[in-house]
Amino acid sequence: MNRMKYRGRLAPSPTGFLHLGHARTFWIAQQRAKQNGGELILRNDDLDSTRYKMEFVDAMLEDLRWFGFAWSEGPDVGGKFAPYNQSGRMDFYRATLKKLRAGNFIYPCTCSRKDIRDAARAPHAENDEEPIYPGTCRSNRESEIVNRKFSWRFRVPDGETVSFADKNLGEQKFIAGKDFGDFVVWRPDDVPAYQLACVADDVAMQISEVVRGADLLVSTARQILIYRALKLASPDFYHCGLMLDGAGERLAKRHDALSLRTLRAQGKTPESLRENW
Ligand code: GLU
Ligand code: ZN
Repeated sequence: MNRMKYRGRLAPSPTGFLHLGHARTFWIAQQRAKQNGGELILRNDDLDSTRYKMEFVDAMLEDLRWFGFAWSEGPDVGGKFAPYNQSGRMDFYRATLKKLRAGNFIYPCTCSRKDIRDAARAPHAENDEEPIYPGTCRSNRESEIVNRKFSWRFRVPDGETVSFADKNLGEQKFIAGKDFGDFVVWRPDDVPAYQLACVADDVAMQISEVVRGADLLVSTARQILIYRALKLASPDFYHCGLMLDGAGERLAKRHDALSLRTLRAQGKTPESLRENW
């Protein structure tokens, strides 16, 4: 897509301390923004209040700055697309939900997590933990659901290949209904799901390229379907390979030993940490 200016983003979730894996993906995002003479935006993905803790937001900003990140728009510096905390952007998400409903792209799903696990169709794309939804509620109507909580689920075009040219990994293809199934865009506790919030914000903040970890490749395919439903062009995507620990396991927030906090306390410098990248 032809855009005037490169706009990239860092979108950490404040659910734990940032670790070296995040830093590496973010570093690539920052370099891409620099190489393209563009802007880098910081967005605080703090929607999931069950997992999110205030102390992590401050720590996140501090750790990012310590490591050498700089952003021109963000929760601490503002900018023309404020607010940059997802928790302050509910109106954007509701508007997006409304469009998806109007276009009949989503349906109300009353299944519990357990229902879905029990009925899940396996196997599905590697690295993506969401079980394939069996389609139980596809013909539900909202008016028929009385006094029950439900989520809104996106109906994927079964059998269709969703493809995109990843700027790092090349051509990617995922089959809807096989590699991923109908996915939640709005949760029963009235919180937008990641897929919807992410698209709504990347659109509103005019992000031209999304740099993220390869663990989110399948989510990118889901999000492409949302862009399509909204009749909007997708941004470009650049997926980074994931950092593995000594045992070949993916770095996760539970690897406290590799949190930027810990490394910093041990006297490591950002420069030395970047040496092996
Ligand atoms: N907050 C999300 C995460 O940390 C953002 C992922 C993305 O869309 O880049 O997983
Ligand atoms: Zn259901």
